[in-house]
Amino acid sequence: MTKQLRIAIVGFGMAGATTAAALARRGYEADVFEQAKAVREVGAGLGLWVNAARLLKRLGLGSDLERVGCAARESAIFTPTGDLIQRIQATSSDGTSGYTIHRAELLDAIAQRVSRERLHLDMRCTGVHERDDAVRLDFADGSSAEFDVVLGADGLRSVVHDTVTEPSPPRFANLVAHRGLAPNTPDLALDNGRAGSHRGGPGARARRSG
Ligand SMILES: Cc1cc2nc3c(=O)[nH]c(=O)nc-3n(C[C@H](O)[C@H](O)[C@H](O)COP(=O)(O)OP(=O)(O)OC[C@H]3O[C@@H](n4cnc5c(N)ncnc54)[C@H](O)[C@@H]3O)c2cc1C
Repeated sequence: MTKQLRIAIVGFGMAGATTAAALARRGYEADVFEQAKAVREVGAGLGLWVNAARLLKRLGLGSDLERVGCAARESAIFTPTGDLIQRIQATSSDGTSGYTIHRAELLDAIAQRVSRERLHLDMRCTGVHERDDAVRLDFADGSSAEFDVVLGADGLRSVVHDTVTEPSPPRFANLVAHRGLAPNTPDLALDNGRAGSHRGGPGARARRSG
């Protein structure tokens, strides 16, 4: 009898959700542990480059990208005063384009491909202990569970990362990003709003997606 591989994913952000959806498509149901009490993505827009868009389409998300995203054929970089520096092609030779998309809507679309029974919310992983035959995960509520494979998708302050390699805490680089949403008005639009743009200069950078 073939033993079913016990797979755990720690974190249900963009990486954890996409990994769970990809595994499910291959017939592997992973248990996903997320510290938040609800599935939510913070932040505003996300620029998906062609490579990411192609992979999401392979997961069956093509119609979702078209529905909630904005196909971006190109991106452009401007000086702070609006002079064009460079236009960047965002379409590959096979016709796949990049997309600009709202983070929460993308996460929601990916999450539809993941079994809700295997998604464990309000479960903060506090420790990862590797043995020869299994990996044990400990959680903040005092419980623990064992798996054959553990995938760390727990972000910038990853608990999983720190158990498999030297801890490398994030360092503040004196850069702050303000994210927001604005109507896609004609004065902001490049190529009829079907592209993203950056404006940047010394000490400042602004990016528009969509
Ligand atoms: C300002 C800004 C703009 C960006 N723009 C883009 C862009 O346009 N395009 C692009 O591709 N990328 C962009 N990025 C990068 C992108 O946002 C990140 O690479 C991506 O969100 C990381 O996803 P993740 O799932 O790895 O981590 P996260 O989104 O951080 O998700 C980690 C998840 O794990 C959970 N978690 C954490 N610790 C634990 C624990 N101990 N136990 C259980 N759960 C836990 C968290 O609650 C969270 O849900 C941008 C980043 C920033 C800061």
